[in-house]
Formats: sequence, structure tokens, C-alpha cells
Amino acid sequence: MTTITVIRGDGIGPEIMDATLHVLDAMQLGLTYEDADAGMVALDKHGELLPQATMDSIRRNKIALKSPLTTPVGGGFSSINVELRKRFDLYANVRPAKCFPNTKSRFSSGVDLITVRENTEGAYIGEGQEVSADGETAVLTQKVTRKGSERIVRYAFELARKTGRKKVTIVHKANILKSTSGLFLKTAREVAAHYPDIECNEMIVDNTCMQLVMRPEQFDIICTTNLFGDIISDLCAGLVGGLGLAPGANIGTDVAIFEAVHGSAPDIAGKGVANPCALLLGACQMLDHLGRPEQAMRLRDAIIATLEAKDSLTPDLGGSGNTMGFAKAIATRL
Ligand code: ATP
Ligand code: MG
Repeated sequence: MTTITVIRGDGIGPEIMDATLHVLDAMQLGLTYEDADAGMVALDKHGELLPQATMDSIRRNKIALKSPLTTPVGGGFSSINVELRKRFDLYANVRPAKCFPNTKSRFSSGVDLITVRENTEGAYIGEGQEVSADGETAVLTQKVTRKGSERIVRYAFELARKTGRKKVTIVHKANILKSTSGLFLKTAREVAAHYPDIECNEMIVDNTCMQLVMRPEQFDIICTTNLFGDIISDLCAGLVGGLGLAPGANIGTDVAIFEAVHGSAPDIAGKGVANPCALLLGACQMLDHLGRPEQAMRLRDAIIATLEAKDSLTPDLGGSGNTMGFAKAIATRL
């Protein structure tokens, strides 16, 4: 019996989580859920955005499925999501982008790639940000370490092996950012040498953006540092139909948290029309991570079949369905 921590979150969070758990229940996976609060709900109930009980639950179960969380201004953190990444050292942000049928996307076929973004260092360490007293000069420190680079690149190559993917593209800007991006690239080459079965190529980040828009089919796994990965993974989500279909995983040595990439969507919260697919695809990533790839595939196939049949699609996909109706349509195709 596997227990996962379930965080229902804010805004549309509870609606898409209900829908997702409905589908997971229909699969009879033998999963047990442990509810834990975070975000505005937790602040209202417990006076804290990230209660100790929630931290304990995640640490105990090691796996969490998480809906979007709202971080209020002046809540003590700049972002609860970033805080979770820090506290559990979730160093790998893994975001697949794949074409799905009947979505409003640039590419209806050919894109099937995964961005593996370093999640803990680079330009986003939050240290060394200074503005001079006269407000005329601003400085930012970037930090890249061999250890941090090594573990993210190794993660990307191991993921390639595990999922039968053939190529890892190392994305960098070592020609200009000679110290930080240079160390990342040098370390990446050393790691790549241990994986002769996986093709490895290198690409400068600006060219990568152009190539992604023009010929995205050339990419398989992209591995890069924090800032570049942040931008590239959103670009990739845009290529294949946007937020409603973009899942993400935050993976550490001990703990992994699976989520939808989108936010709490306050504009449609409570209306029952949110698209549950991003969180459902996050659940697919979770099943893969748990070593249950056949179950992940079964769920993905049911989602694809439902999109293909245009059965009960939510308004963001051009349908007139609702969140739970969509989930039920998926559940019947499992
Ligand atoms: P937050 O402050 O939590 O990030 P946000 O409104 O800034 O929320 P998103 O929640 O990511 O950002 O929403 C951006 C837009 O995409 C909104 O118009 C929202 O309604 C829409 N959207 C996001 N997620 C979904 C979804 N699952 N289904 C349908 N529409 C969505
Ligand atoms: Mg937002």
C-alpha cells in the first residue's frame, strides 16, 4: 500500500484534485491519500501557510500530489512553491511537453520532449541581490556548483535510460557566461561520458529558443540551469497547447512533489469548469516515478482518447463540459 500526501490547494485546486482523485480511484491503484493543508486554506485553518503537520506528512510519505497554492503578499515567503523546493531540496524540475489531439496548439504532432531544469541554484538563489544606495546600480549573484550540475545532468541521463529516450541536449550560454554556464557545461560533458548509450548534444540557449519554435521535433530531453529552464519549459508548454495540459514534477533525493504547472486561476475558481488534465498528467508522472509505468500509460491513453473523442471537454479546450464531467469521461476510457 502506497500512501501519498494530497494537497488540495487554493482557487481551482480542490476542483481539479477531486476530479483527479476520481480518476485515480477508478483505476484501483491501491493508493491511500493523506490530506494536508497548504496555502490560503492552511492560513485560514491553522494560521500558517505551510504548517508543520504538512511538512511532516510529505517527509513521511515522500510523495505528494499538489494543487496550485496562492501565496499572499506579506505572507512571510515570496512563494510557497519555492519554499517547498528549498526545504526538501527538490533539485530537479521535470516538465514534459507532448502534443495532444484537439488542443489549440502550434504543433498538433511531433513534439514529445521533457525539460529537466536545475531547481536550486543559478540565477535564482535569491542571495547577492543588491541595489546601490542611490538606486542606480543593481547586482545579482549567480551560483553554479559542480555537485549541483552533476546531479541534475545525471538525473536527465538516468531519465533518458528509464524512459527509453535517445538524446539529451545540454542548453547553456558558456560562450558569454564563462564561469557559471561554463562550469555547468564542463560538468555536463563529464557526466555525459558515462552514458555512451545516450546521444548528447550542446546548444546555446538563444538558438535553442529559435530551434524549439521552428523544429521542436529534434528535441528529446533538454537539461539546463534554473533561469534558462524556467523560460524554456514555459515556451514548451506554449508549443503544445498551454497551461491546462502542462504538468510538472519537483524531484529531490528523498521527496518528490507532482503538480500542475498553472496557478490557482481565481477567475474561474468555484465554477467547476477548470481543466483537470494538467494535474492528471502530473499524476501520470507520479505513477512513473513510483515505478508503475503501465499504470501511467493507461491513464495517459485514457486522457488522449477522451481528447480525441472531444467528450466533455472543458471550455479552455473549446468544449462546454465541466471539470468532473471531463474526469468521468476519462474514467470510462481507462
Ligand atoms: P496564480 O496567482 O495562482 O498564479 P494566475 O491567475 O496568475 O493564478 P493561472 O492560474 O496560471 O495564473 O491562470 C492563468 C490563466 O489561465 C487564467 O485565465 C486561468 O483561468 C487560466 N487557467 C489556468 N489553469 C487552468 C485550468 N486548469 N483550466 C482552465 N483554465 C485555466
Ligand atoms: Mg500566476
